[in-house]
Amino acid sequence: MFKQQDLHELAAYQAETPILSVYLDVDPTERKTDEYKLALRQMLKRAEGLAAAEDIASVERFFDHEYDWSGRGVVIFSCEKENFWRTYSLVVPVASGVTIARKPYIWPLVALMDAYGSYAVAQVDRQGVRLLLFEMGELQITGGYLGEEVRKLKKGRGSSGGAGRRGGAPVSSRREDEVAQRNIRDAVKATDRFCRKHKPQRLIIVGADPIVAHFREALPKRLQEQVIGSFSADMSASEPEIRERSLEILQRVEKERESALVDAVFTEAAKGQRGVIRLADTLGAAREGRIQTLVVARDYHQSGYQCQNCAYLTDQALDGCPFCGGEFAEIPDAAEALVTKVIEDGGRVEVVDEHPKIAKFGVGALLRY
Ligand SMILES: [Zn+2]
Repeated sequence: MFKQQDLHELAAYQAETPILSVYLDVDPTERKTDEYKLALRQMLKRAEGLAAAEDIASVERFFDHEYDWSGRGVVIFSCEKENFWRTYSLVVPVASGVTIARKPYIWPLVALMDAYGSYAVAQVDRQGVRLLLFEMGELQITGGYLGEEVRKLKKGRGSSGGAGRRGGAPVSSRREDEVAQRNIRDAVKATDRFCRKHKPQRLIIVGADPIVAHFREALPKRLQEQVIGSFSADMSASEPEIRERSLEILQRVEKERESALVDAVFTEAAKGQRGVIRLADTLGAAREGRIQTLVVARDYHQSGYQCQNCAYLTDQALDGCPFCGGEFAEIPDAAEALVTKVIEDGGRVEVVDEHPKIAKFGVGALLRY
């Protein structure tokens, strides 16, 4: 499993030569293995000439002979020249792509950590709670609380005689409610203890609607703020079912985060402050090392020019480099070269799908200053 520690190690790694970073979507519920293999071949073909041939060969070898095609996503970093080779199989989905830079392209993993890093699911009913802690979509720890059974019909109902009614409700039903209330209070306490111990970033509540609402209201404020959604499922729902439905909620939250990021880029750019949009301006900001977060539409590619001397990138055909007087060479993909530059400068890169604004402009960025 991919852990926070792996991320720290990758983030600190810097090579003298380019590292090939490969993300491959292998979700078996979406497509067949052969289709993913084809997608991989096409991606590696695009990396030819940019990545070292031995790195491309290592990745091919891994998929042909080692990888068991389990999980939904796989991530590889290869730099044979420096004996650097890492593979991670993930149970959460990733978007396919290759990147070549002298640092591992870790930002999709950072986003996955943000989205799926650690979350708890509280499955509640009138008797108690079952608690599940997931990390990167994998079940790690279970816990829970089981209180007194809430009986629908008490044995010998009415045997307490005519005094069985107070406040209009039958004693048995009032007694049921009391037990259920107490159980929910104790379930909340158990959830609080579990979350204090395991520190999930997010909480999802599962159960019948009125009980979920009741449970949520009874949670301490700190935990209420961590709740990102709920859904209805039986206590007997299987762990895979709970996991799948939880992932849907987490994916929605992640989409909202991306969307908010794109909106922030456009707002800052409109104010002329800490944001830029369009390739030309974004390339300019990259040259000055000002990019904190680069936002790029998936499948955005644009040819451009790069100074052969100082590596300055531009979308204009200029006679000579305005910074060093060097000669320009046309490059097939200035957007990709931009991604490489931002990664090597320590900036964050977010590839965004399906956002109308970024789809129109291709790239934009939040700036450090
Ligand atoms: Zn130059």
